[in-house]
Amino acid sequence: MRKIDLTNFQVATSETARHINRRIALNIIRRFQPMSRAQLARRSGLQRSTVSAIVGQLIAEGWVTEGASAVSGRGRRPRFLHLNVERAGIVAVDLRPVTTRVGLAGLDARFLMQTAWPTPGTPEGFAAELARTVASFRNSHPEIVCEGVGVSLPGRVDSAGRLVFAPNLHWGAVDLRQLLKDALGLPVALENAASACALAELWFGRQPDDVKHLVAVTVSEGIGVGMLLNGQLIHGRDAMAGEFGHMVLDENGPPCSCGKRGCWEQYASNSAAVRYYLGLLGDGTGAQGPAVPGPALKFTDVLRLADEGDGRAVRTLEHMARHLGVGLAHLVTGLAPQVVIIVGAVTAAWDRVGPIVLDVVKQRTLPANTTPIVPTDPATQPRLRGAVTLVVQQHFGAPNVA
Ligand SMILES: [Zn+2]
Repeated sequence: MRKIDLTNFQVATSETARHINRRIALNIIRRFQPMSRAQLARRSGLQRSTVSAIVGQLIAEGWVTEGASAVSGRGRRPRFLHLNVERAGIVAVDLRPVTTRVGLAGLDARFLMQTAWPTPGTPEGFAAELARTVASFRNSHPEIVCEGVGVSLPGRVDSAGRLVFAPNLHWGAVDLRQLLKDALGLPVALENAASACALAELWFGRQPDDVKHLVAVTVSEGIGVGMLLNGQLIHGRDAMAGEFGHMVLDENGPPCSCGKRGCWEQYASNSAAVRYYLGLLGDGTGAQGPAVPGPALKFTDVLRLADEGDGRAVRTLEHMARHLGVGLAHLVTGLAPQVVIIVGAVTAAWDRVGPIVLDVVKQRTLPANTTPIVPTDPATQPRLRGAVTLVVQQHFGAPNVA
């Protein structure tokens, strides 16, 4: 139960009740479709007349469609309701320091189109490139109503849409939401990539419906953590919660883009693995070299080399796995999630990496710990799906009352 915030509340009106019931009906249809009005009334506990009114409204607005009514020998069968997944076109953006991927998806997070381009060096360049992509999507699918744009970011944005912390992006504290709204003429939702992945796991993942405590860890150029605790995404002061990637493991360790030394992501991220492979990173001591990835070798090359039996690549992944385990043990011990989701290219090598991670976590957590650590399938494009979820949850999420 939350305490009522007396600096920011809204008293309930009959409109509030209608809005809540409508959201509940929409979510039940989404979850249990196809279903009849009678089934919806039973599941929701709402009166048949209320259900009919809500469904009528949802159909009129295009959120729900009705299947053809099959006429049997003994009269009309009920018409089944479906979520109209094609109603909304959602532009999903996975913004990363090197490459940006953009997709056009329906309400079910299935992608109709996708493209990728090198991330421009400035936010203005990014907005212009994104506007060109959105225009080309709309030209290819003129039948789709663009409902909004979701962007998953390698950093943190505050509630006003300002980029407050993105050390691997080097863009400064730009008002990204306003910049993109102006460039695209569409509503824009921004969120840290790991937080977006945590939400995507809730809305589109394989978790049980009642999962309340879920942590998502994105392992890429850096390491991001998204925390869903008590069913709520945690943002913290200035939206900075989740920066476990910058938890210092060794103050004499390799320099980090955040200005400190020896942060977790300097040992367990993709860029750290590349530097380790190239010999630029000692085992946590005497590190040299820049805190940016080497341009020649990519993390996917390290994965490929390990597959080909390259001993140095294998040792690199083992080093990365041990350090992933160290940080994950802290998360599991401190946050007690029901599940930890791992997102990133490293999951492709989970048969090699996973056992080491689990072993280190087991050594470093309380005996009662049973939190599963689950890799996501890169084929599901979790970061892009996370960006879709940012828009979907605005239409399907629980209304904020009191
Ligand atoms: Zn750092």
